[in-house]
Amino acid sequence: MLMYHHFAPRGYWPKQAVAVYVDDFSEQMDYLQQEGYHVVALRQVWDHYKNGTPLPQKPVVITLDDGYESSYQLAYPVLKKHNYPFTIFPVVNWLQFEKSNKPYAPDKSDYLSWPQMDEMVASGLCDVQSHTFDSHDKVNGISVLITKIKKANGQLETTEEANSRVKEDLRQAKTFIEQRYGWDVYALAYPYGEYDEKVMQTMDELGYGMGLCMSKIKHKNNLKAIARIPVAQSDGLNGFIQRLKSKQAQ
Ligand SMILES: [Zn+2]
Repeated sequence: MLMYHHFAPRGYWPKQAVAVYVDDFSEQMDYLQQEGYHVVALRQVWDHYKNGTPLPQKPVVITLDDGYESSYQLAYPVLKKHNYPFTIFPVVNWLQFEKSNKPYAPDKSDYLSWPQMDEMVASGLCDVQSHTFDSHDKVNGISVLITKIKKANGQLETTEEANSRVKEDLRQAKTFIEQRYGWDVYALAYPYGEYDEKVMQTMDELGYGMGLCMSKIKHKNNLKAIARIPVAQSDGLNGFIQRLKSKQAQ
């Protein structure tokens, strides 16, 4: 399971973003095709675990986190060329609700608009799952999904308050995506890959069956702690091949 965030044309370097050059990305996608990997939709993996539906040999899943506009402007044309399915994990409230008139600026790290997402979804290749509604933030270095934060009055939340804040956020994200696209939201990509038992329990209550983290595996064989292969800017093609071969897709 591959994890990407942001993409950039060669020569541009967007600040504060984990970006992969789009010509590298294109080579990586060509490589998957040449080497007989089968790019499958995340939903097929979910179906595999839930219902035992078989997966093809050498399955690979492509995930794009955060919902950057570069997913649409740069990665989508490459994915479309190969007819590869992919899943975007947007922070629902970060995306523009209207189409923006601004020209695309590759040196910025702008987010997608929902109309751009709609266009990708209409292709049949793009699945949209949850990266929270608006909880992609840290307090004292810890994801707000697994820590207490200060309330408007300056007091720290109680455990119950923190739990219900997280539950409300995850519920809102799920409802928004489900209403817009008419499919079920079964997966959550944890911001910063951070999760705990409590979040997993909340996911059970809301009907999120899958949790995606980063590369470290804390819980083996747990559908709510699926590790992904992070593809880095410095990987190019050779680093990508090494990562692909050194890890078994879970
Ligand atoms: Zn993220």
